[in-house]
Amino acid sequence: MLKIVAMFFRFIPLYFVLLSLVSSSCVTSGKINKVTDTSEISKPKNIVLLIGDGMGLSQVSAGLYFRDSPSNFERFNTIGLIKTSADGFVITDSAAGATAFSTGEKTYNGAIGMTSEKQPAKTIIESLSERGFATGIVVTSSVVHATPASFYAHVDHRYKYEEIAEFLPTSDLDFIAGGGLKFLNNREDKKDLLQELRLNEFEVLETIPSTIGTNKQAVLLAEDGMPKISEGRGDFLPKATQLALEYLSESDKGFFLMVEGSQIDWGGHANEVDYLIEEQLDFDKTIGVVLDFAQKNGETLVIVTADHETGGFTLSMNGSDYNTLKPSFSTGGHSGTMVPVFAEGPGASEFGGIYDNTAIYFKMMKLLRE
Ligand SMILES: [Zn+2]
Repeated sequence: MLKIVAMFFRFIPLYFVLLSLVSSSCVTSGKINKVTDTSEISKPKNIVLLIGDGMGLSQVSAGLYFRDSPSNFERFNTIGLIKTSADGFVITDSAAGATAFSTGEKTYNGAIGMTSEKQPAKTIIESLSERGFATGIVVTSSVVHATPASFYAHVDHRYKYEEIAEFLPTSDLDFIAGGGLKFLNNREDKKDLLQELRLNEFEVLETIPSTIGTNKQAVLLAEDGMPKISEGRGDFLPKATQLALEYLSESDKGFFLMVEGSQIDWGGHANEVDYLIEEQLDFDKTIGVVLDFAQKNGETLVIVTADHETGGFTLSMNGSDYNTLKPSFSTGGHSGTMVPVFAEGPGASEFGGIYDNTAIYFKMMKLLRE
């Protein structure tokens, strides 16, 4: 705790100085760089959906306090809130939460791309691929973890990782980045799904390339989840996201990319403040990469949200001291508070207000209708 208090004192004078200097919403490399408000333009060509797993408002706020420059969250002009409950559960897990975004279905906790009746529900990636969109996922978990899996697989329970992995080679995805090698090449059934990926025209890469090839790309860098930032993950998330944007934006028809800051949730479950904040800051940096792309591109809608809050995380005062934050947790699990939605770019104005998590799917599909 002392460390956090110390961190806070280190950053807070700068933070308030910057707040008083910056009346617009963004700083890149020290320069004020406000995003042009294109939210009233109705139809995006591309959508990037960024999910901060377990990222409630206190996590976003912590990212603002413990950052030494203004947060990329401050670049958004449209803000909403979503109700996150699952079917039959007041508090959702990441599987039901992601399935709500990917299919518009309110389903049970644990469901991967399945309805409450355990029937496969068509995902946004499947629908858009049929129409010629390029699609991708970039995550810091394994690529078979609940959130990414819900965008390309249909399995009745999230922990059936090997079953989920079988969907990857023949999925409609064009760009995949994250961990999870062991679910592809060290399986109980001895199948070699890396080879199947190659047979399905994927280039399989076990390091981050500096330039991107023309084949479909599967960048798989860890046996299971990617390392924590504190364990040396480095710039994987912003870099892989940049590569995904370069690759997918070659598509004439448009693209859909889902990016997940998976480990904000894991810091919350572990009740580790430093872990949570480092992951939040990495996600913030990645949002900056996407907003910079969208700003130049002009036809890309950027949506940032969370599936649920994790840890019952809060930024309370330290005893009777109104000048010191004391980040603390009330649970090792999830909480039921609404989570924020940030949107920027063509169609962003659709995302203001309070609505169900499933509406994210319907709003995206409406905006991309033919
Ligand atoms: Zn969780």
